[in-house]
Amino acid sequence: MPNRDPLILGIDLGGTKILTSIINSKGEMLSRDHSFTPAAKGPEGVIQAILASADRAIEGASIAIDRVSAVGVGAPGLADPKTGILFTSPNLPGWEDVPLRDIIQEKLKKNTFLINDGNAGALGEYYFGAAKGAAHFVYVTISTGIGGGIVIDGKILNGCKGMAGEIGHMTIADEGPPCHCGNQGCWEALASGTALAKAAQKRIEMGAGTAILGFADGKIANVTAQTVQAAAEKGDPLANQLILKTAYYFGVGLANLVNIFNPQMIVIGGGLSNMGDRLLMPAYGVAEKRAFNRAYRTVRFVRAALGRNSGVLGAAAFAFEEMKRATFEPEG
Ligand SMILES: [Zn+2]
Repeated sequence: MPNRDPLILGIDLGGTKILTSIINSKGEMLSRDHSFTPAAKGPEGVIQAILASADRAIEGASIAIDRVSAVGVGAPGLADPKTGILFTSPNLPGWEDVPLRDIIQEKLKKNTFLINDGNAGALGEYYFGAAKGAAHFVYVTISTGIGGGIVIDGKILNGCKGMAGEIGHMTIADEGPPCHCGNQGCWEALASGTALAKAAQKRIEMGAGTAILGFADGKIANVTAQTVQAAAEKGDPLANQLILKTAYYFGVGLANLVNIFNPQMIVIGGGLSNMGDRLLMPAYGVAEKRAFNRAYRTVRFVRAALGRNSGVLGAAAFAFEEMKRATFEPEG
């Protein structure tokens, strides 16, 4: 029988969306299935939705499940790749110590691997995207929250139980705003899209004059990072001031990453990064001022290349990596 390119079923489980895809070793997606995460239905309902989506992705690639070599799952929250357990997830209510890997493996009868979504995104960019060939880099995704993954010597930094790399929850301001993780002043509580929207809402409630509301149908509750951006583009002073503040905190966090990891590259993705230079240039300026000059000079800031596919591609890359490792290092 001729050697066939192994195919992976990649699953990117998010708090609001599930993306599944059949992916080959070049990172080509042979199918794509998007669906909503029925988060309120708890683990059972969500797992059913994952399996239904997996069926559609397999069908979409016009293959039989026998053709799939393994399954890679990226999941939000604290996930241990060694035991395959999703400990907890702020975006998935009711998930405590769910053996997600083994459940999927049992249902699909395929070797399955579980990784945290931020780490999956980092691996996706490493194998197929902006960080190809970079052995030392940090992947940062800035959207409603801040997540990411750290690659050192070509390997994801997992920590002893898979919980490393939660860069969004490093404390930036000790008395800062509350974070949904239970801490306060976390990076994502200060520099994410949610933080920007909340800061804008607060200033408007306090009576600040701004064009932001005009982009939000006049309702404070409709103010988002996007409406702030739209106002900033029209020259609204408050919108610009709020974005500069977000950029400032984003830059403080980047300086920490530069000093701690001395990466050759920081790859920045996520919806808020689409704000581009308005957000990123001032953030780089802050990082330059605060980081060790030598370390700052060695780092290259690049935009992520895979967009919303980084997680699903990274989950597949992780499965490829683990399969290869199993071939070279047979266990027991
Ligand atoms: Zn936090």
